[in-house]
Amino acid sequence: MVIVMHEGATDAQIQNVIDRLVAAGFNVHRSTGESHTVLGAVGVHRDFDHRDFELLDGVREVMRITQPFKLASRQFRPEGTVVDLGRGVRIGGNDVVVAAGPCSVESREQIHAVAESVAKAGAKILRAGAFKPRTSPYAFQGLGEKGLQLMREAADKFGLCTVSEVMDPSQIRMMLGYVDMFQVGARNMQNYHLLRALGELQKPVLLKRGMSATMEELLLSAEYILAGGNYNVVLCERGIRTFETYTRNTFDIAAIPVIKKLSHLPMMADPSHGTGRRDKVAPMARAAVAAGADGLLIEVHNDPDHALSDGAQSLFPEQFAQLMGELRIIAPAIGRRMA
Ligand code: PEP
Ligand code: MN
Repeated sequence: MVIVMHEGATDAQIQNVIDRLVAAGFNVHRSTGESHTVLGAVGVHRDFDHRDFELLDGVREVMRITQPFKLASRQFRPEGTVVDLGRGVRIGGNDVVVAAGPCSVESREQIHAVAESVAKAGAKILRAGAFKPRTSPYAFQGLGEKGLQLMREAADKFGLCTVSEVMDPSQIRMMLGYVDMFQVGARNMQNYHLLRALGELQKPVLLKRGMSATMEELLLSAEYILAGGNYNVVLCERGIRTFETYTRNTFDIAAIPVIKKLSHLPMMADPSHGTGRRDKVAPMARAAVAAGADGLLIEVHNDPDHALSDGAQSLFPEQFAQLMGELRIIAPAIGRRMA
């Protein structure tokens, strides 16, 4: 249930509503916007009559939420959420933010070369995996903490934020000093233990859609993080499995406008995993920005032909720079700007 208070509601009126909700057994999350205070009441109470709350002083509207996600719903924060990564990088505002980099950190030379070229082209965040969820246990699994050190060093040198995948709660503490945003990969979207652990922090989380997850399931996974008190969640469409085999996944561009309407959370898009083919990345990146994505996650490698993972879908630095130039033309057409 979401309770929207009147514009002039007093603190006493707001507190009274909160007290009544708590007494009724709800967990209350308060969101104070520029003009309205919104209260999110979480809990399932069959015998509860929401009309009792419509009668309380200062209440403008009470909305029962039939959707199972509550804190992630647009109603909870109609104005939208902006996630701040530091260094002036904010996802969810007017600016479209690009995270770019290799699938995996492979060496100091590699990550520095890629960081330099993507920073020069206008990326704000360096992406790279140090813990890689590979389909085969025999494939390259990532450099672990050493990879994160190299990534941080390269990002600092070129003024970038960092995002890297966390696969297990036991890695969180160690990773805190290296990443500005935790990435939860498609394979871990429903690792509820991991989501709950990330909900206890305030560090931003990039939550990727599972490869067979519905939009509602993605939002319910986000709900786990939000319910813990961490509202710094960015969602990411990265393609889903369908009967089509020509592309690695089917990049579900429609998920961008659908989720942006259902939820206040910023939404990024990953056309690299979404298509799995280098030549299809730029068209889908352009389409994602045109569809309203708040940011992109793009794989770029200085030597994709020798990449240890996902070389086939990694752009050459020159291709990435060209794409960024195209996005600077597309974004203003829909009233946005490239960060
Ligand atoms: C990645 O971003 O490198 C990755 C492993 O993505 P996903 O979890 O979407 O497969
Ligand atoms: Mn990858």
